[in-house]
Amino acid sequence: MARVFLVGAGPGAPGLMTVRAAEVLAVADLVVYDQLVPRRLLDFANPSAERVCVRDLPGVHPDKYPHIYLRLIEAAKAGKCVVRLKGGDPLIFGRGGEEAEALRAAGVHYEIVPGVTAALAAAAYLDIPLTHRGHTSAVAFITGHELPQKPGNKLDWAALAKFPGTLAIYMGIARLPVIVSELLKFGKDPDTPCAIVERASLGEMRSVSSRLEDLETARRSAGLEAPGLILVGEAIGHRLPKSWFENKPLFGRRVLVTRPKAQSEGIVRKLEELGAVPHVLPTMTIRDVSDFAPLDSALDQVRDGEWDWLVFTSVNGVHHFFARLFARGRDVRDLGDVKLAAIGAKTAQALKQYHLNADVVPGEFSSEGLVEALKDRVRGQRVLLARANRGRELLNVALAEVATVLQVSVYEQHDGVDTSGDVFAALRRGEIEFVLLSSSNIARGLLKHFDETLKGRVERGEVKLIAISPETAKAVEECGYSVYGVATEFTSEGLVDAAVKATV
Ligand code: SAH
Repeated sequence: MARVFLVGAGPGAPGLMTVRAAEVLAVADLVVYDQLVPRRLLDFANPSAERVCVRDLPGVHPDKYPHIYLRLIEAAKAGKCVVRLKGGDPLIFGRGGEEAEALRAAGVHYEIVPGVTAALAAAAYLDIPLTHRGHTSAVAFITGHELPQKPGNKLDWAALAKFPGTLAIYMGIARLPVIVSELLKFGKDPDTPCAIVERASLGEMRSVSSRLEDLETARRSAGLEAPGLILVGEAIGHRLPKSWFENKPLFGRRVLVTRPKAQSEGIVRKLEELGAVPHVLPTMTIRDVSDFAPLDSALDQVRDGEWDWLVFTSVNGVHHFFARLFARGRDVRDLGDVKLAAIGAKTAQALKQYHLNADVVPGEFSSEGLVEALKDRVRGQRVLLARANRGRELLNVALAEVATVLQVSVYEQHDGVDTSGDVFAALRRGEIEFVLLSSSNIARGLLKHFDETLKGRVERGEVKLIAISPETAKAVEECGYSVYGVATEFTSEGLVDAAVKATV
């Protein structure tokens, strides 16, 4: 059945997408998204889905919406599951109605998934009630895009000036002086409390409040630009000096995450939750091994019971090991009664996903800890180390003293920092305050690209280097930089906590 989902993505924060939106994105073959939808929300899409920004569709122009319709209709008729993703709610200034009409006319079935519209997000994140039992009994969603003087303009500013409630004006920043003067002209009190907010719900959120009459001046001095939302009405007078969101410990702070993209999700979410603006700049990429032969032969040996122990030193190692096992048409029964060791709790957790319990997990997450935990147990036995193509040799050397050890690469790490992209440029310009370094390799991989400008910023404390452990802090110092903070718990959570501590 041909089907298109017209989906509201909400105001930007991933947590404000609906469960239904995430569900349909996860099964989409094609996602056609508006330019204002943060790219981050596309992470919810099925990894193999085709993603198209409407801006990139041929001939797309505000007056040429049919190009979008055609793309949706064609794909749906070809049997694809199509998601049309729009900011906020699709039916509030989102042209969702027009697209639905075009789909109906073409005989394509559609569903509409509502989203959190900008006005609701602005109210929640600024901590302002949109209605108030004492004095505000209504809310109006208004477009500020139509020029009041425009012939055929459907907005009645005289009526809006008398509206007994909160005005939420979308797309109005560019026309703010005209909007204010129309409201004043028709008798709105110049003292009416107002606010402007941009990027509501995100760490980048900025806002300003003022009396109606001074709103344009206030906007300019705060440097707020379109797109933004204007709120007008008595209820806005209830605004606190800082909202619950603005009080978050990392609100508005820009933080660099240096982990490989696939593993950065958890830490990015945690940063967003604390109000930060996360940027991801991986210092290495993770790939399948270029030659599967050694891994395949190790998998055969495991199946044949030739190994007593299978040792995993990372979450990646676990996932790549099983991905290859399954790709060869085998399943977990091949592991038989081989004993399993994991370097830390996260790696053990990864094994759990395959319904396997690690027999050994050291109390201290480190190669040293693992050697300590294993040394006596593996004496005289055969140990297979499933690991990256590079890394410390300690485990191999220390265990080889008491056991027969083979190391096999189950995945490869490759260095590479994108120094020509936007994120590195922002770092150089001093627009990113914290750099979270989650391993010694990552620290070395990133710092070797630092030039005099960045070095100066680190020295002056404008760019603050936070290390995940004393070992990583040592690597930073060996590169000639000073660390600003070191985590006390050597995990991503610990690393974020160290950044929070560094703000006070
Ligand atoms: N369908 C969307 C609105 C699209 S019109 C919705 O329901 O929210 C685009 C306008 O929405 C922008 O000009 C701005 O006024 C407003 N807007 C969207 N997201 C916003 C956000 N996160 N913060 C403030 N305003 C936002």
